Amino acid sequence: MNIEKLEAFLIQKDQPKFRLGQILRAVYQEGMAEFAEITSLPKNLRDELNEKLPILSFVAEKILEAKNGQSAKALLKLADGSHIETVLISPKPEMWSVCVSTQVGCPMGCRFCATGKLGLKRNLTAEEIVDQVLFWKQWLKKKFRNSELEIRNHDVSNIVYMGMGEPFLNWDNVSESLKILIDKNLFGFGSRAISVSTSGVTEGIEKMAREFPQVNLAISLHFADDAKRSEFMPVNKKDNLESLRQALKKYFQITNRQVFLEYIMLAGINDSAEDARKLAGYIRSIEKLQLLHVNLIRYNVTSDELQPSSREKTEHFKNMLSEMGISATIRKSLGEEIQGACGQLAGK
Ligand code: SF4
Repeated sequence: MNIEKLEAFLIQKDQPKFRLGQILRAVYQEGMAEFAEITSLPKNLRDELNEKLPILSFVAEKILEAKNGQSAKALLKLADGSHIETVLISPKPEMWSVCVSTQVGCPMGCRFCATGKLGLKRNLTAEEIVDQVLFWKQWLKKKFRNSELEIRNHDVSNIVYMGMGEPFLNWDNVSESLKILIDKNLFGFGSRAISVSTSGVTEGIEKMAREFPQVNLAISLHFADDAKRSEFMPVNKKDNLESLRQALKKYFQITNRQVFLEYIMLAGINDSAEDARKLAGYIRSIEKLQLLHVNLIRYNVTSDELQPSSREKTEHFKNMLSEMGISATIRKSLGEEIQGACGQLAGK
């Protein structure tokens, strides 16, 4: 929702000052999808707002829900006709995590990612980013509207910036969106309920450490070898493993907070015993071993070129890391059935 436009509209209509707060609370905290639902507003104002100001900056063209009810994906059409996707995941009962996109497409070109094949069309505005959270908040409210208790227990609890796009290449809008999510008068999320994931844009890592030290950081590492990383992730040609190491050291100096290293398991490419040793060696070289945690992720097939590692291979890889003192887990993949898992978002 465009807060500036709303404020200007209320001033123009000579509304008392408290109206703005009243509407913001209803929309951001209670998840009202229509102004008509805010019955504490005068009827004529509700009608005018409904006519003049859309609450969401996009329309949902398609919503796919997984059969097990643990994930859903929406295809959103923005005002300029471009499309993005956003995903809702329930990693455990009564926990709902929204995965937001930050760009239309992505310029980073990671070879294992469907979004990377689209290239960059444009950055999303802060409003378009936070509206994805608003969209799922409204959706959950509608889905569980049978009782007040259900609505309370089925609300968005976490936000991950892991959808389409590289967040640190759209920092102005991403940082603005973080402010809106954290603002107690708007969504009011705790910083620790939010995670930002980067492919390794080192400049952004420092900016986030300074501006949002309590927001979680995840890094798509995937390779602990420069040659392989550059082959699959072009970002590594500019921000290689050494510059990432330096950025992480600085991040720890500023925040002293845990960082998640994402590692997608690709059969025959980065899943050998040698790869596990290299990964452990790299993590040890960053020094703050206790603050680094590896998430091993199943590759969700997006091209014929690459295949996921087998379950046994992934278990073995994890065990090797544990034996070398590295904390690691195999992350459960949610959303594959609806093409909403990591790396599968392609705006269609
Ligand atoms: S993995 Fe992330 S950074 Fe890489 S191309 Fe896909 S969306 Fe972009």
